[in-house]
Amino acid sequence: MKYVLIVGDGMADLPIDALNGKTPLEAVAAPGMARIAGGELGRVRTCPESLPAGSDVAFLTLLGHEPVKCYKGRSPLEAAGEQVELKEDEVSFRMNLISVGGEYDGGSMASYNGDGIDGPDAFELVSDLIHDPEFAEIMKKARMTITPTPTFRHIAVVKASDEPFLLTPPHDIAGQVIDGYQPRGQLANELHALQKRAHEFLCGHPVNRRRVKEGLLMANGVWFWGAGRATILEDFTEKYQKTGSAVSAVPLVRGIAWLSGLKAPRIDGATGTLETNYEGKVEAALNALKSGDDFVLLHLEAPDDLSHLGDLEGKMESIRRLDERMIQPVMKAMDDMEEDYRLLLMPDHYTLLSTCTHDGTPAPFAIYDSRMPGTPRPFTEAACSNLPILESGDQLMRLFLEEDE
Ligand SMILES: [Zn+2]
Repeated sequence: MKYVLIVGDGMADLPIDALNGKTPLEAVAAPGMARIAGGELGRVRTCPESLPAGSDVAFLTLLGHEPVKCYKGRSPLEAAGEQVELKEDEVSFRMNLISVGGEYDGGSMASYNGDGIDGPDAFELVSDLIHDPEFAEIMKKARMTITPTPTFRHIAVVKASDEPFLLTPPHDIAGQVIDGYQPRGQLANELHALQKRAHEFLCGHPVNRRRVKEGLLMANGVWFWGAGRATILEDFTEKYQKTGSAVSAVPLVRGIAWLSGLKAPRIDGATGTLETNYEGKVEAALNALKSGDDFVLLHLEAPDDLSHLGDLEGKMESIRRLDERMIQPVMKAMDDMEEDYRLLLMPDHYTLLSTCTHDGTPAPFAIYDSRMPGTPRPFTEAACSNLPILESGDQLMRLFLEEDE
């Protein structure tokens, strides 16, 4: 028996006027999803009420953990996605490349992601920055290490005491003057000095001079946020007697999988957006199963991303592509394999087009079983809305894997 978990990030939503009261899931014809929904339907509380609704909390639940006990912030999970391991006395942060509008003092948060900087440019900016003698000197004072990545998201780790860090997520202050949101709490002076020096250094960098010519904003600042301590998670294979892998573009998801003892390969061309390497991800998931894994998690970030942008058409297109370019090819390949399989399809959480944010409403799910395929029916929020709510990820995982406690 093989087990495939497919997650359409944030694809669940509320009824939308422009769709005559339908949700995006209801409005898109999705034969692959309908096939899965011919099986068992249900709901699960992926984001406990006491925690912020988001993929960090939800994916802990999806892999059978209890976020109320093990969630210590987003950044250590992301650090794990880059295989940066934290010691007990260490705290990790997300360090975004950002765009500062105007001078640093009195400047604004023109873009929380450096105007979408990605790839070798992003890697080069941060690699050069950490070798700038002045920046490196402040890093040393803060006992900080930084791991650059080919994205706008980088990872900083410091030795830390128990005092709190008071940091503001950069996407929460889009367009605002940054002065009032500078770091407070532990290491406030050092973090502020690093952000200020980064601006001086990055404004003169050749990559940024080229970006200006191309009509893009300079990625001329860094911003620390999302501090968190090491997270120890139960080993998935020990707990459920299944080996497995996770296929995702998103470091957070790969990190949670990796900390759970699953393999989490990086896939070329997997971007976390609508234009991603669908075929490469499907191939990686199938290869994992063919090379002996019992379980694979296949994640598509795009529906969430587009919901945050309030892009209805984009969200619907991402659901369409999830169906056509991931679910259908996976099921076809699994049908051709000479082994029975179960396939669990779900969003990790709701992301509402109406508010452009996450929502903690229990997530609908569907489980297909190749031994009893059932009659296809649409996979919708409403189809699951009166079903009992599973209160833990462990319950969901044991139901999916047909394991008793
Ligand atoms: Zn999201």
